[in-house]
Amino acid sequence: MPQTTINLLDLPLPALEAYFVSIGAKPFHARQWYKWVWQKDVLDVDQMTDLPKSFRENLKENHVLREPTLGEVEESQDGTTKLQIVLEDGQAVECVLIPERERNTLCISSQVGCAVGCRFCYTAGMGFSRNLAVSEIVGQYRLASRYAAERWGRIDNVVMMGMGEPLYNLENVVDACEILMDTKALGLGARKVTVSTSGVAPKIPELIARSRVGLAVSLNATTDEQRTKIMPINRKWNIGQLVEVLQNIPKPRRKRVFLEYVMLGGVNDTLADAKRLLKIARRTGAKVNLIRFNPHPRADFDAPDEENLLRFQQILVDGGVGAWLRKSRGRDIHAACGMLGKAEKPKE
Ligand code: SAH
Ligand code: SF4
Repeated sequence: MPQTTINLLDLPLPALEAYFVSIGAKPFHARQWYKWVWQKDVLDVDQMTDLPKSFRENLKENHVLREPTLGEVEESQDGTTKLQIVLEDGQAVECVLIPERERNTLCISSQVGCAVGCRFCYTAGMGFSRNLAVSEIVGQYRLASRYAAERWGRIDNVVMMGMGEPLYNLENVVDACEILMDTKALGLGARKVTVSTSGVAPKIPELIARSRVGLAVSLNATTDEQRTKIMPINRKWNIGQLVEVLQNIPKPRRKRVFLEYVMLGGVNDTLADAKRLLKIARRTGAKVNLIRFNPHPRADFDAPDEENLLRFQQILVDGGVGAWLRKSRGRDIHAACGMLGKAEKPKE
């Protein structure tokens, strides 16, 4: 029986070094082990020949390595692929692989379900089940990487925009992002990992201080009245508080802040909204990602009118703010933004 329930795949390097020292090994053994596991994708301790034999025996007898497993895979007509990730307790999350000519992006989850309850989001209907462990967050990348390798090559970009609110699972999200970015582990680099939050204002400075990741904030509305209606979290932290927090992010980091804006037809896509969004973006120095609402049976909203959408974007661009229209991919397999959560069947 293992003497410990620590899953070594949950530990970023400093914690692993400290742990290895506590069980009588040296910090450099932790670095060797780390390299085998994360860079060479070797989990079999017997193959880690540069570790002392007695220590390998100790690792084999007393420690566990737990990774999630790959469940169902669905491929969309546009190549977007949804992977079901099965966790040890039998629950599942989803991640979405988006292969493109110039890069391959993976959208990963941070929690099973979500407690935030945004009115337009399919995941919200699942409710919240639990936080994901570090190994379960990084495991999505590992499983998707193995799947993508011979089809599309390396996954070079990760966005935490799947199920869940990452800043409600900050500790594990910070550690998981470190393993993803660390050149001694998966080596993605800081510019290639972005965390999206629905606006947990007090945790944003902590994320910025503790991790080098890029930040996306799901603003989705330009007045508090509007935002509270579609995102109940606005009652806790409103637009003014979010703006203030973003203004206090150090300048170099602010360059990598995005405001996400889901366009809901007839709700938040007017010219007045565009002008207010322009002001917010200018005050915070953020760029804007516009996302077409993806309709689904759990939400009573419409997709925006295309002409409106382009006019909206033009106002931002003319005002000097970088604004992009996020392509909506994988809708036919329920893999587009805000559509994850197949584990539970639609109520309709
Ligand atoms: N919970 C985090 C990250 C996951 S949601 C967050 O809310 O930021 C990722 C993005 O999808 C968010 O910007 C969210 O506003 C958007 N989204 C949710 N439901 C959507 C839908 N039905 N259509 C389009 N975008 C949606
Ligand atoms: Fe949760 Fe994000 Fe969906 Fe809101 S949009 S319910 S925060 S996953």
